[in-house]
Amino acid sequence: MTKRLLLSVPLVGILLWAPATLLCPPTMMGESPLFRGVVFYSTAVEGDHVQFAEDALKFLSGIAVKDQFQLDRTTNWDDLNEAYLKKYQLVVWLNESPKKPEQRLAFQQYMEHGGAWLGFHASGYNDKDTGWPWFVDFLGGAVFSINSWPPLPAKLVIDERTHPVTADLPDSYVAPLNEWYVWKPSPRLDAQVRVLLTLDPSNYPLGLKDVVLAGDCPVVWTNTKFKMVYMNMGHGGKILSNSAQNQLIENAVLWLGAGAASPRAGVASPRGGEASGMRISPQAVVANPKTKKVYAVNTDEGTVTIVSGAGHAAKKIKVGRQPSTIGINPLTNRIYVGNAEDGTVSVVNGSLDQVLATVNVGELPYVVAVNRASNKIYVSKTFSNTTTVIDGATNQVRTLNTGVQATAIVSSAEMNKSYLINQDDALTVLDGPTDATSKIHASNRA
Ligand code: ZN
Repeated sequence: MTKRLLLSVPLVGILLWAPATLLCPPTMMGESPLFRGVVFYSTAVEGDHVQFAEDALKFLSGIAVKDQFQLDRTTNWDDLNEAYLKKYQLVVWLNESPKKPEQRLAFQQYMEHGGAWLGFHASGYNDKDTGWPWFVDFLGGAVFSINSWPPLPAKLVIDERTHPVTADLPDSYVAPLNEWYVWKPSPRLDAQVRVLLTLDPSNYPLGLKDVVLAGDCPVVWTNTKFKMVYMNMGHGGKILSNSAQNQLIENAVLWLGAGAASPRAGVASPRGGEASGMRISPQAVVANPKTKKVYAVNTDEGTVTIVSGAGHAAKKIKVGRQPSTIGINPLTNRIYVGNAEDGTVSVVNGSLDQVLATVNVGELPYVVAVNRASNKIYVSKTFSNTTTVIDGATNQVRTLNTGVQATAIVSSAEMNKSYLINQDDALTVLDGPTDATSKIHASNRA
């Protein structure tokens, strides 16, 4: 993928310590996202499958910001139960499938009552020992037969041009390195299955150690009896490095989650441009009590609406792409807007209503908070172990190690300290003058 994790350690921390946390920015919480999805994955599986899960979580969190859906995740397969699943319109399996009968039954009932599923690679693996006939039917009768090895790129052809998931893809593309599965029987033989992508025969012989020589090898398909898509991609760290394939995945998520086609077709963007209160969180609207101006972020448009005075006159200014969090220092009359897609913070002059500067802070800024006393701006980032500190006087940045992704930050000018809630439930205290950090509490949750 183009956006790679800079640090793997914090992500491992998240994977191990946070069985169910939100991937989407606070902008989405408690409001009305396009839909709600949950990702199931495992960390105690083949390394290349864990690598894919790490990349996919990052990628999916990015499109959750962009396309404004809520995405939770869990490594606890016991979350496959009726009470948990009923919160979600979409279930994603990245690298494994459930093993316990009660988990399987809950999933079966979820799918038979209109739930949606997107499965990648090993999550569809099944053989004579799997012992779950319903799942084989669900996959269109497909049983794993052989695989290619080592992982190699392969040319894929689009079978169905009329399906929403593939409508805007090229006729074929070369998919990045993957371990390719061959299924016996081919799911194409199931009358209810629509095959969307297939290994092009020009790939054969495919592999060096384990070689696929010939045959019909569907790679992406849907069983029309259910709201489901299976994709064979999902082995190693290159899967998300191809724009056509990334589009395919995004299309599938939106189609399954919201019945929507590609955002490029303009179908999945029901959000209006105005700051109406929809999809605006406490992190995405701030007020200056001195000037009586209110600033509200419009994530889709890349703008901030400025409402001023008793008459509520409004105007908009352009900021970066996917602005999703905002902070203000009323003392300096500067407003700080975190742009998720650009990895920047727009610094707005509150007198002129103009962007003064754009500060690079790193991928996916998540929460912005301002300590008025020290005139420091704290920016946490999705999946990052660090908080970026902007000096409000100079716009110079520093990076602090503050523990796993801060999901909430409050700054107290009176105490000249900031308090960060981390993904692993730790509470980190940041001293305003010195930037020294300390932890008040670390969770034992595992
Ligand atoms: Zn694999």
